[in-house]
Amino acid sequence: MAFIINDVEVTSEPSNLLFDKHIDFIAKQGNDKHDYEYCMTEFLRISGIYWGVTALDLLDELSHLDKESIIEFIKKCQCPQSGGISACEGHDPHLLYTLSAIQILCTYDRLNEIDIEAVAKYVSCLQQPDGSFYGDRWGEIDTRFSFCAVAILTLINKLDVINIPRAVEFVMSCCNADGGFGSKPNAESHAGLIYCCVGFLSITKQLHQLDCEKLAWWLCERQLPSGGLNGRPEKLPDVCYSWWVLASLTIMGRLHWISSEKLEKFILSCQDIETGGFSDRTGNMPDIFHTLFGLGALSLLGHPRIKPINPTFCMPQYVIDRLNIRPQLLDA
Ligand SMILES: [Zn+2]
Repeated sequence: MAFIINDVEVTSEPSNLLFDKHIDFIAKQGNDKHDYEYCMTEFLRISGIYWGVTALDLLDELSHLDKESIIEFIKKCQCPQSGGISACEGHDPHLLYTLSAIQILCTYDRLNEIDIEAVAKYVSCLQQPDGSFYGDRWGEIDTRFSFCAVAILTLINKLDVINIPRAVEFVMSCCNADGGFGSKPNAESHAGLIYCCVGFLSITKQLHQLDCEKLAWWLCERQLPSGGLNGRPEKLPDVCYSWWVLASLTIMGRLHWISSEKLEKFILSCQDIETGGFSDRTGNMPDIFHTLFGLGALSLLGHPRIKPINPTFCMPQYVIDRLNIRPQLLDA
């Protein structure tokens, strides 16, 4: 029996960016507070706002969202005891939501609205003796949280509150023989976690520790005949992996190692012609998460109607420039 590749058929339509439809799609997310899905997604509300704010800013249409009510909402999500930020008022704080909140406040240039010292203390308290980070007080360890920790602290200009050499040592201990990274030592390589670890090394300026040739080959092999990228061997392509893989390759100066043309065609085929928004793959329901990562990947590919995005922080480049942050990027 021949080797079967898990892949999808892509359509050649739509072949251009449905700009106005995406603005409508993003702007109406979460507007109806009685909407079933709005209530169901309470547990990741603040991340949902980050996806929407970033996506609209990339389209230069941020004015469609109510800035002041978003900032008020974030202020209510900061825990007065720990300093961490939760997905939604009354929930437990977590590094993932703290990062989303900080990213939104940076985009709006309103970091002064919350207690920044308390955020720095929250992050430093989650670092473990081996350099890893708990995601929250419940103690799960994952390389995603190492990325969140250094990203948050860099955005608020407090990176010196943690032990950086230890943090780097832990992330490098999660590097596998294939050049990729998993969630913890000896865990399987996965494109999402590779992005977190490459992003972490970009922020801490330790990219020389990577085996770039080997890792970039592994990432290139994620491109399937449809043009889409998967996250691991033998999985289906998915628009969000366009971001994780492409951003990692961009940081390593190897974006040209994949076919941009085929990838762009795959991403555009995941747009919903009726409602706007992007889905994970051609023909599925669109959502705000895949919409941001679809637009982000198109931005990395140089789409003329989308603002440049920073590959390390997944935020508009002008925001990172305004903060005077220079994550390390390798030359092509
Ligand atoms: Zn996905």
